[in-house]
Amino acid sequence: MTQPTYQQLLRDSGLERIDAQVLLLHVCQQSRAWLIGHGDDSAAPEHIAAFTELAGRRRAGEPVAYLVGTREFFGRDFQVTPAVLIPRPDTELLVETALELAGPGGRVVDLGTGSGCIPVTLKLERPDLTVSAVDLSLEALAVARRNAATLGADVRFLQSDWYAALTGETFELIVSNPPYIEQHDPHLAQGDLRFEPRSALTDEGDGLVHLRRIIAGARTHLVAGGWLLLEHGFDQGAACRALLHEAGFSQIATRRDLGSNDRVTLGMIGPELVHPEDCRG
Ligand code: GLN
Repeated sequence: MTQPTYQQLLRDSGLERIDAQVLLLHVCQQSRAWLIGHGDDSAAPEHIAAFTELAGRRRAGEPVAYLVGTREFFGRDFQVTPAVLIPRPDTELLVETALELAGPGGRVVDLGTGSGCIPVTLKLERPDLTVSAVDLSLEALAVARRNAATLGADVRFLQSDWYAALTGETFELIVSNPPYIEQHDPHLAQGDLRFEPRSALTDEGDGLVHLRRIIAGARTHLVAGGWLLLEHGFDQGAACRALLHEAGFSQIATRRDLGSNDRVTLGMIGPELVHPEDCRG
């Protein structure tokens, strides 16, 4: 029997063309340009075997990023495993906003860092910043540390339940993309999310459990004039603004992602002293 060509493998895979192409190029360790010249070649048996295996897993739902082990974020390749959330384009808005708000030489911490895509990008874009990142998951921290080492970013990583390991430390900027999906959201049972760590997606509550904790603890860890920057669900902007207001933040604003959804809310701890009425209770 004649071997299929690379193009035939793609066509017969039963996958979306883009997914099939990414998997095939991963298996062949080649770039897209290579496929243009070699699409009509007979596929090598080891490529057929490896592609067939990955294509089957993809048809069963596994995310492409986990199958190939990387996902691009802010123009760089980050390693990902099922221990971390797959970086989303939406989160680039959080990074862009952080780059805008971080003053020269600022100290920044990322809470719940997962793959480390946020702190590593911040450090590489702005080497003047001192960047720390925490996660509760040791498995996630191993992935994040690997990404920082591979990409050459000097980031300090700590295991921590939000602020727990940061006692006494202050920052000019706190950023976070916490688990903010409500526990019964049907999206948790669909698509790639079925394969991602549930603890990185949902708070097993109303979606605001961790956002509330992060906002409540921020004041202790921000210098006067410091910013808190949060990613959240498309319908959580108003709730985040209200929580920041209650916690004494000013300059509160929500920004929209590329899909025009509310995605990032920010607030500043005023350089002015706390008003006396805020000191009650
Ligand atoms: N933005 C992700 C999604 O909707 C959720 C990530 C998160 O909870 N931080 O798939």
